[in-house]
Parts: sequence; structure tokens; C-alpha cells
Amino acid sequence: MDFFNKVGETLTSFGNGVGSKTRNMMDLSALTSQLHQHEDTLRKMYEEVGRKYYAEKKGQPEEAFAGVFSQIEAVEAAAGELRKKIEINKSMVTCPKCKGLTEAGSQFCKHCGNPMKTAEAPVQQNQPVQTQQTGETDQNN
Ligand SMILES: [Zn+2]
Repeated sequence: MDFFNKVGETLTSFGNGVGSKTRNMMDLSALTSQLHQHEDTLRKMYEEVGRKYYAEKKGQPEEAFAGVFSQIEAVEAAAGELRKKIEINKSMVTCPKCKGLTEAGSQFCKHCGNPMKTAEAPVQQNQPVQTQQTGETDQNN
């Protein structure tokens, strides 16, 4: 009871006094950012509920969700295709002559036969980048 009375006092005294306009503005931005935090939390929770529901009812959605479920399936399939394409692209190099894609490490472009510089193979992210460790590097290419 005491606690709530004190909160009430603080709230009423807060808006009074000189410079209350500035205070209100600061108050407003604090309130807005609190609101955004809550909205963010809600979004995550709704998403969690949705994910769980989808995982549970996948394959036998209730009638009201059948449309959304098939949309999810379609978008997931499309996203899967894009992921595959991106993975393939990462292991490909662009031919400087015809701009076609050829597997990294190939000696010749599979489209136009242009000799490919193997040095132009993309650097794999999980492999360390080879720099000149010693003074002697083989320059046989
Ligand atoms: Zn080419």
C-alpha cells in the first residue's frame, strides 16, 4: 500500500515545476523506448508461439491455418532453393571473359574455354588466407 502511494506521489510531482516541458519530452522518449521494448518482446513471443504451433501441427493444420501453413511451406521451399544457389555461387568463380560461372579450381571456363587463373578461386571462409609466409614463394604460374 505504501509503495503504491509513493509511486502515485512521484508520478504527480514529476509533471509539475519549472522545465516540465523538457521533462515531459524526456519522459516521452523513455516511455516510447519502453513501449518498443515491450513490443519487441511481444513479437518474439508471438513468433515463438507460431513456430511451436507450426512445428506441432505441420501436416495437419486446423482449417483456419491451412492457408498460412501452405504459404509458409512455399516460402521455406523458395528460401531453401536460394540457400542452395548461394552455396553453389560461393564455390564458383566468374570467367573474366564471358562472365559465366565455373567451378572454382577449374583450369578453363566451361562456357567459353577461356583459361582460368586458379588464384582467382574464392577464399573459403573457414580456411586461413594464404599469405606470403616465406621469402620464397613458388611463382610457376
Ligand atoms: Zn568464359
